[in-house]
Formats: sequence, C-alpha cells, structure tokens
Amino acid sequence: MKVNKFTIAILLTTLIISCQQKYQDRTLTPSKEKRIYFVSELNSEQIKRFDKGKTIVLLTGGILEEHGPYLPIFTDGYWNEKFRDTLAKTIANRPDLKVLIFPTIPLGNSGANDVGLKYSFPGTFTVRFETLRSVFMDLATELGEQGFKHVFVIHGHGAPNHQRALDHAADFFNDNYGGKMVNLFGLNPIIENWFSGQMTEEQNKEDGFSIHAGMKETSSMLYINPNLVDTNYKHAIPLTGFDMSSLLQIAKRPDWPGYFGSERLANSEFGKEAWNKNVTEYCNIVMNIIDNKINPDTIAKFGNIMKESSMDVMLDSLAIEEEQRRKSIQMRWLHKKGFD
Ligand SMILES: [Zn+2]
Repeated sequence: MKVNKFTIAILLTTLIISCQQKYQDRTLTPSKEKRIYFVSELNSEQIKRFDKGKTIVLLTGGILEEHGPYLPIFTDGYWNEKFRDTLAKTIANRPDLKVLIFPTIPLGNSGANDVGLKYSFPGTFTVRFETLRSVFMDLATELGEQGFKHVFVIHGHGAPNHQRALDHAADFFNDNYGGKMVNLFGLNPIIENWFSGQMTEEQNKEDGFSIHAGMKETSSMLYINPNLVDTNYKHAIPLTGFDMSSLLQIAKRPDWPGYFGSERLANSEFGKEAWNKNVTEYCNIVMNIIDNKINPDTIAKFGNIMKESSMDVMLDSLAIEEEQRRKSIQMRWLHKKGFD
C-alpha cells in the first residue's frame, strides 16, 4: 500500500475513534450521558436545581483489600464502579429520573485476612467499623439536610461488619430524613449471588467454599479488568475449604498467600456470564425499589443472617477487638498531645 498524507490521516482517525469507543465501553463519559451527572463536576447552582425527589444518588465504595498474588487490591471497587455505571444508565433510561454520581470512596472494613486473624497484611488498608459507619452517616446527613431522598450505596465486599456499618448509615438516613437510602450489598439476595455463575460439579468441588479471590471472583476480574490480573493465576494451587472453620485453618497458615478456592479454574467467559445474569437482576431490584414495587425493608439482610453463624460471630468480634486496640493507641496519643 502506498502511504501518503491521506492514508495517514485515515489511519489516525480510525485509531482515535477506536480508542474512544473502547473508553466508552468501560466507563461513562459524563458530558455525553443524558440525565447522568458527576457531582464533583457541578457547581452549587446546578446542585441546587436538582429535583431532589426525582434524583437518584449513587454512593459507590471500594475497599482496599489484599486479594492474593494475582488480583489487584481494588478488585471489589472495580466491580462496584462498573456496576454503578451500568445502573446509572439503566436509571437514566427513564426520562423522569436523574442520576447523581459521587466519587468512589476507597474505604472499607475488615479484609479477608481477618479470617486468619492476620490483622495486618500487605495490601489491606481498611478503616475501623466505627469509622466506616461515621463516614457514611456524615454523608447521609449532608444529603438529607440538602433534601435528597433517594440514595443507593454500592459497596460490595463480603465482610458482615462492613455491610452492617453501611446498613446502620442507611437506617439513620431513613429514620431522620424520611427518604430511602438502600445499602444494596447489605441485601442478602444481592450479595449471595455476587460473581456466581453455573459451575460444573468438578469446579464446585475444587473451588469449595470460596468467599474470596477464588474461581468466581478471578473470573469476574478477567472479564471486567483483565490487564490487572497476573497471568500466573493459571498455576495457582487450590486452597479449598468447605466452611468458615476450614477457611480459618487455611488462612492461619504462615504461608497463606491471601486467597481461597481455585483461581486456576477462572476464565473470562464465566465472568461475563455471571456479570450479565447478576447485574440484570440487581438493576431490576433497584428499579423496583425506586418504583415502590419492592420494599427493601422486607428483604433479608446479610448482616443479620450472618449472626446465625457462630464462626462468623466469633471472627467479627475478634476483628472489633483488634479495632478497639488500634483505637485506644490513637486515643492515648491524642490525649497525650491535648488534641482530644
Ligand atoms: Zn473481593
């Protein structure tokens, strides 16, 4: 092919267009989306003008939590952000509604390393239960005081204390401001299917009770953010447990790498199927809540269900004990300095 200026121009244009398409597939371009707004880009006049009863606020979180040697520590957050974008588009399909997106809050409570009583672990940067609850209660207060009525918290992460902290903030908003704040991942039907798809009997056996960074979660990342998965996951030795007690034994081993289950079984096709199935279902639940067809108070809460598992109750209370130890160090220092 003869290369002249014209050919180069066409090639460049094609490249730019394909890059733009790729970008739009992955995330939202705020100025191009109808009825979707990023709060950080607005001025106070624009925020004042929102019809608060017809504006759906999306508060997204992402815990910084070790996910072993193959997955990035913001794995849960990447999933939450992609889901937020899909949900925003679903809501904004309705001409009577607007969506207001807040920046992702990278704060979460209780990493999976707590299961092995290893409260400090490379890659886990969490805040205490009380801190997480305070952050979301403060934001709930600001939103309530300014008249917003509909808030959805998107903060997927499987620790019961983490979800309880967010549930409390939502209950506080609803009791004090007469609105509807829903902690989506505190709803059991949502969190129990997270990453789940159709598995063969053999896959189930090898992956076991895999609550963290196993076949399902690794497949999800291979679908939504493959460049951040270390390809050595294909050689990961399965760390299979069948209940919380066996996971505790696995995670207590001195050489535990930070995951459960079988990452080597992961594949992006599984991640894609699970994504499509679960996200469609989750968006339906949200739309039904907005339209008052589902009352979220009637849906079982993950934080309550986990109180029935004595093993989880023990792990949660040990984690809180460690948090109290950390808090008392901070308090003693503040007191010594006269800052309290
Ligand atoms: Zn995770």
